[in-house]
Amino acid sequence: MAVTDHVDLNGFMEGVKKRNPHQPEFVQAVQEVAEDIFEFMEDKEEYHSQQILRRIAEPDRVVSFRVCWEDDAGNIRVQRGWRVQNNNAIGPYKGGIRFHPSVTESVLKFLAFEQTFKNALTGLPMGGGKGGSNFNPKGKSVREIMRFCQSFMTELYRHIGADIDVPAGDIGVGGREIGFMFGQYKRITNNFTGVLTGKGLEWGGSLIRTEATGYGAVYFLANMLATKDEDLVGKTAVISGSGNVATHAAEKIVQLGGKVLTLSDSGGFIHDPDGITQEKINWVKEHKTHRRGRIEEYVEAFPSATFHAGKTPWGVPCDVALPCATQNELLGEDAKTLVANGCRAVSEGANMPTDLDGVHTFKHAKILYAPGKASNAGGVAVSGLEMSQNSERRSWKEDELQQMLKDIMSGIHDSCIRYGDQGGGYIDYVKGANIAGFKKVADAMLAFGVV
Ligand code: GLU
Repeated sequence: MAVTDHVDLNGFMEGVKKRNPHQPEFVQAVQEVAEDIFEFMEDKEEYHSQQILRRIAEPDRVVSFRVCWEDDAGNIRVQRGWRVQNNNAIGPYKGGIRFHPSVTESVLKFLAFEQTFKNALTGLPMGGGKGGSNFNPKGKSVREIMRFCQSFMTELYRHIGADIDVPAGDIGVGGREIGFMFGQYKRITNNFTGVLTGKGLEWGGSLIRTEATGYGAVYFLANMLATKDEDLVGKTAVISGSGNVATHAAEKIVQLGGKVLTLSDSGGFIHDPDGITQEKINWVKEHKTHRRGRIEEYVEAFPSATFHAGKTPWGVPCDVALPCATQNELLGEDAKTLVANGCRAVSEGANMPTDLDGVHTFKHAKILYAPGKASNAGGVAVSGLEMSQNSERRSWKEDELQQMLKDIMSGIHDSCIRYGDQGGGYIDYVKGANIAGFKKVADAMLAFGVV
């Protein structure tokens, strides 16, 4: 037997920690997957001997680069940019770009790792990647953002391509930034190709891409509730975040008859006991995206609400919860509070919003709990459909795409049941998602031999 064979979970995680010092988010993401995969692999010698998990948890490459740009006052600013290409066993690397001061190599490695499983779950041929920068778009002028995006792409362009690596948006990167980056890519390469997704409809974008992550998270939630013969009608929902994912999740909850009580941003959360209606959601979209305002201003527009500075919304009693802001925004204590208050289902719109303690709490309580890699896959799924449309050089109709999104979310739900059904009416969606995502990538890697 080779010396590296059959290390146990703890031995494996010790190695991951040693090889990735000061990268807590990456270690956390690997741990969450490894807990389930070690159990699954117990009687599968080939995965062990071929070191499949060890290989998936080592990015194919991490490109790190300097991004210089000039601010409006003429100062030269220097940021760091990255692209993490985690795994392309089942398709070109695919995953968003994040611009936020909290971005580090650890954060992007965790996101690229998660993306690998998420993309596999969609059933579409996409590998896993992620990129970004510690650039803070907050308070920057549109011209500054444009210059930053152009400078970022001036390096990134050589590492990506429609059949190589296809970035998209994430926190701090929406349609406008994708436009600036696509413009620069086209200018440098003279190539009009589907190298980015989340594009504008006039230049190769797909209908419903904007709505897809939030809508998909609610479709997944509805699928989970249906296993208990329940739906969203009359249910109260607590949502964190107020960006693209949160507002579209809220919109779909309202469309399906639920009542949304909260939204948040980094300053705190608003609680509207009357419910955040479609009209109010439209106000939030306009306020956050176009006016780039703070969520606390909601209470001036809608006095039925209260603002809770510096707090997260998990203490508000609810039937369902959707963390749609960012990683580690829902901690073990919050999970306990949600469960104690009678929350029956959690569908993650963000990536890894629940810390490990929280994950264990939800699993232990056996509530309906969907990890982001399953429930927020709708966004990247429609990105995959955007890639197909670009390859075909045509655009599909909205109702076709809506149906495809619903089908993909149901397919992911089915995969979670296949590998996560624990009997007695309990489905461990974390385990189901981890195993289904892993198996697809792992089997492709086995076919390629040791590469
Ligand atoms: N950033 C999104 C995610 O976390 C979308 C990625 C994409 O569309 O490539 O899945």
